[in-house]
Amino acid sequence: MTSNITAESPPHHPDVLKSSSDDRTLLVHGGRQPGRFSGMVNTPVHRGSTILASSLEEWERWKAPENGTSRYGRFGTPTTHSFQDLIAKLEGGHRSIVFPSGLSACTHTLLSFLQAGDHILMTDSVYGPVRSFATQVLKRFGIEVGFFDPLIGSGIGALIRPNTRVVYVESPGSWTFEVQDIPAIAEQAHRAKATVVMDNTWASPLFFKPFEHGVDVSIQAATKYIVGHSDAFLGVATGTRESWERLQKGSHDFGEIAGPDDIYLALRGLRSMDVRLARHWENGAVLAESLREHKLVHSVLHPALPEHPGHALWKRDFRGASGLFGVQLHRLEPHVIKALFDRLQLFGVGFSWGGFESLAVPSEESIPGSARTWPHAGKIIRIHAGLESAEDLVADMRQAFRHAATLV
Ligand SMILES: *Cc1c(COP(=O)(O)O)cnc(C)c1O
Repeated sequence: MTSNITAESPPHHPDVLKSSSDDRTLLVHGGRQPGRFSGMVNTPVHRGSTILASSLEEWERWKAPENGTSRYGRFGTPTTHSFQDLIAKLEGGHRSIVFPSGLSACTHTLLSFLQAGDHILMTDSVYGPVRSFATQVLKRFGIEVGFFDPLIGSGIGALIRPNTRVVYVESPGSWTFEVQDIPAIAEQAHRAKATVVMDNTWASPLFFKPFEHGVDVSIQAATKYIVGHSDAFLGVATGTRESWERLQKGSHDFGEIAGPDDIYLALRGLRSMDVRLARHWENGAVLAESLREHKLVHSVLHPALPEHPGHALWKRDFRGASGLFGVQLHRLEPHVIKALFDRLQLFGVGFSWGGFESLAVPSEESIPGSARTWPHAGKIIRIHAGLESAEDLVADMRQAFRHAATLV
């Protein structure tokens, strides 16, 4: 019996930080209560399905709806709650719920707010697997799916139908990097009483505060910057007070559970996220600038560059840029692209991003979309700037581009 673990925090060790606290302080002091766990700095990994009541009276007391205590491990353990509480504060929302992957957070959020006969509007720049879920699974469940041009802004009003229940945004898109006018889109959606769901993974909770811009549910693929070390899958969705009940109940009914070790890794990742993101931002911006004049490059898709079409919106709404951006190439022969990738030494060729290490992957031949046609014929190289020295990253990219250019 671990008598020092109780449901209530002792008064001298409360987790007192409010969402108004500075993010940096919140990242260090939020989501942990050493007084509950023998003084341990970090909330330990809790494994458990069954949670025992000490008496029948306590068992009955636990049933009271206002009682925050979990009665079964599926509702979360102290590890889960520490993580969820901290994410809710960072995003600036009411409460959060974890999922075993980012994709699972996206799909279960959608299923919480949609039913047969409803219509959803989704950005054309949406994360590919979410697009596939919408066009395959949601359609099969009798939900109409429409896509919109990410640059549509308040023009989305014309696409909203009486049965439009969800407007799904992602800004910037993780291949094409269009920045969306979220407040304008949210205003139109709310006129029709539709729920605005945002995939906020690119900015992380630090660089875009979704609830200040009209979002109702914000999703993080925590696999990316929150975990930050390419070693765990996790997703988390955060709701407003109004959207929370539907999000929580709708999602929980599917029985998805995230493992305590993965949640622990995500909590641990959060502690250093502000410091990591500052470097990702700087390295990404330096790399983006170094590539913009190259003869193989049509344009660099990075919202922090002044010539990026979304730059003004990014400056208005975002507090920073992460390390993920695109390089739109001119149309090149496959052997030139192969030569470029073969030369890279510091950039791994692989999916995902948000880890400490740099990555580069080429896009498919054509960029998917049904509401807008991507205007360029060449491939995009998607770059994730890791935490290495910016000089080394620039030198590595430059030599690979220089070599590839000799083959054109
Ligand atoms: C990776 C990613 C997801 C999915 O996260 P997983 O943890 O890989 O399932 C969702 N949205 C965006 C924008 C992503 O980059």
